[in-house]
Amino acid sequence: MTETTSFGFQDVPTQDKQGMVGEVFSSVAADYDRMNDAMSLGVHRLWKNTFVKQINPRHDEAFLDVAGGTGDIAFRIQDKLAKRGGIGEITVLDINAEMLAEGRRRAEEQSREDLIWLEDNAEALELPDSSFDCYSIAFGIRNVTNIPAALSEAHRVLKRGGRFFCLEFTAPVLPALEPIYKAYSFNVIPWLGGRIAGDRASYQYLVESIRKFPAKPAFADLIRQAGFSNVRFNTMSAGIVAVHSGWKL
Ligand code: SAM
Repeated sequence: MTETTSFGFQDVPTQDKQGMVGEVFSSVAADYDRMNDAMSLGVHRLWKNTFVKQINPRHDEAFLDVAGGTGDIAFRIQDKLAKRGGIGEITVLDINAEMLAEGRRRAEEQSREDLIWLEDNAEALELPDSSFDCYSIAFGIRNVTNIPAALSEAHRVLKRGGRFFCLEFTAPVLPALEPIYKAYSFNVIPWLGGRIAGDRASYQYLVESIRKFPAKPAFADLIRQAGFSNVRFNTMSAGIVAVHSGWKL
């Protein structure tokens, strides 16, 4: 029997998911940043700022931002380091060439230099063992087919003493908010996707993929199973998003 996995609310052959997710991001790459602002009413900026504040980057560290897409997290890490008088070594890694191209275009537009852009798969990184001080992944892990494989790769490429950070949409949200959040997610977001990115289906997938993602304690267990220590999580915006973190000790 063919092995299946979830692609939003659909069950699809496991081997097909990566290609289907690829189509989603190739389709939305050019409008991705505008859509983030529209969907979250700009709040994704606050989530990302808080995430990078928690990362608390130091200038002597090597950073790997996986599923880095159009560079939002890497740019924030770079800005934080600049304020602290350093440049660090920041690699933006993504499986999707169109998302990376959009990121490079934005970096050029903002006269950003010294970022390394890498097309690669989070599940099988073509990177040496123990080579980074910090691994971040924002709104990326739920799109990965084999999450345990990606977490185990995160552990492999981190140096001993290295830190893992993941920002992701999670469930459940505060019960009082759930009906509004659900109505907004399933009606407004796909509609905005249709209007702004000309692609309602991709945003329907994104909303469904949030619902299929493991609950916070279960995801924390997966991080522990990958070998991380001191795993913890905190939430923002009434539980809509969470930051999970852990150490490679
Ligand atoms: N981190 C960025 C942000 O917060 O704006 C982009 C997040 S975007 C929702 C998800 C990204 O995950 C896409 O750019 C997609 O190409 C990438 N992605 C999906 N599967 C991946 C994989 N297996 N390896 C690396 N990147 C992947």
